[in-house]
Amino acid sequence: MVEKKITTKIQVLAYTELNETEKKLVDLAKEATKGSYAPYSNFHVGAAILLENGVMIKGANQENAAFAGICGERSAFYNAGANYPGVDITLVAITAFTNGDFVDDPCSPCGMCRQAMLEFEKNAKQPIQVLLVGKKAIYKLNSVADLLPLSFVDF
Ligand SMILES: [Zn+2]
Repeated sequence: MVEKKITTKIQVLAYTELNETEKKLVDLAKEATKGSYAPYSNFHVGAAILLENGVMIKGANQENAAFAGICGERSAFYNAGANYPGVDITLVAITAFTNGDFVDDPCSPCGMCRQAMLEFEKNAKQPIQVLLVGKKAIYKLNSVADLLPLSFVDF
């Protein structure tokens, strides 16, 4: 038997350690939670992405009674794909608001969003940096691939 070990490098940062662009995107992700429609989960996810052309796009989860809604992350990524086809995403910030406050621990995307985000990254010229935002800390990853080792399709 051969055992493999998979590791992920995560920088644990405070808001004050972010650069100005990262701070702006984190602020936008927080603002994006206000656009969430989450009467079922009460978990309001906000995502903000930065495109290589400088445009910033917000996304927020949208639920419905059939439980066929969409997460905040894919809301933002698909918006970028639909409105800015061929323009690479360089950075994404993700956070969530629930029970009257932002989450303590960094908000991490679900598996479906990781797969979708990874495909955007694979089609881009460079990795997409990721900021997972909580009140206690912000996790910074240098690539979506770091969020999803052993992804479904190895393109
Ligand atoms: Zn998701």
